[in-house]
Amino acid sequence: MMDCGEGTQMMISKYRINTSRIKLLCISHLHGDHLFGLPGMLSSFQHHQRTEPLTIIGPPGLKEFIQVVLNLTQQYITYPITIKEIKTKERTEVFHFDDLTVSAFPLNHRIVTYGYFFEEKSNVRKIKKEVVQQYQLSVDEIRQVLKGDDVIRKNGEVLPNDILTLPDSPKRSYAYCSDTMYDEKLTDWIKGVTTLYHEATYLHDMVEKAVERKHTTSKQAGLIAKKAEAGKLIIGHFSSRYTDISELVAEAKEEFECVYAALEGSVFSV
Ligand SMILES: [Zn+2]
Repeated sequence: MMDCGEGTQMMISKYRINTSRIKLLCISHLHGDHLFGLPGMLSSFQHHQRTEPLTIIGPPGLKEFIQVVLNLTQQYITYPITIKEIKTKERTEVFHFDDLTVSAFPLNHRIVTYGYFFEEKSNVRKIKKEVVQQYQLSVDEIRQVLKGDDVIRKNGEVLPNDILTLPDSPKRSYAYCSDTMYDEKLTDWIKGVTTLYHEATYLHDMVEKAVERKHTTSKQAGLIAKKAEAGKLIIGHFSSRYTDISELVAEAKEEFECVYAALEGSVFSV
């Protein structure tokens, strides 16, 4: 999960998100619109008897924020929480799952802010959906397939790995660039990213305001996607002055072809 603004819990409930599947929360920076939903969400997890561990990663000060709010409100948390504060000037690995690495890199905003980069590990096989049904594969057998092993059935039949898995596809990746001003340095860290989320707070006629507030215009977000050779661009964090988001999308499309708006409830495949 990326950032945790005030409306997070309402959206979790509206879109029926299974919160036990949230294992990692990456906070980009400590501005309230990215953070103020966190104490409430941690408390709700407790009320719902969460037992799964949760790791929260973010800039310095995150730990103090969480501890102070939980202490003052006497909210005791019994599920394991690990809070990891990062300090880096380069792209640095901060977490990994079995099939995915997570790196952080600095953005250019009014306070310390990090972007995050998620990348598949190359050795993970992708199983063909239809073979699971066709051979009634068990969970253990699926694990063997994903490791790259052949499956030996109870009757001795051997199912070779290459008939069960898809040919190697390029590694998928996702970069999350929340609040930041236009900064070409970013493109080094996210080069070739499959799916890029980048903020686009203003239209380009407000570029001075964007610079002053350390935000990006839609045109600039398109430029970053182009220079980074991204697969597709999702823009968001629109100023409330805009009621017609299609203008922002159109402006980014002048620089980069494949642009979508991160509207509430949107789902994108990576
Ligand atoms: Zn901000």
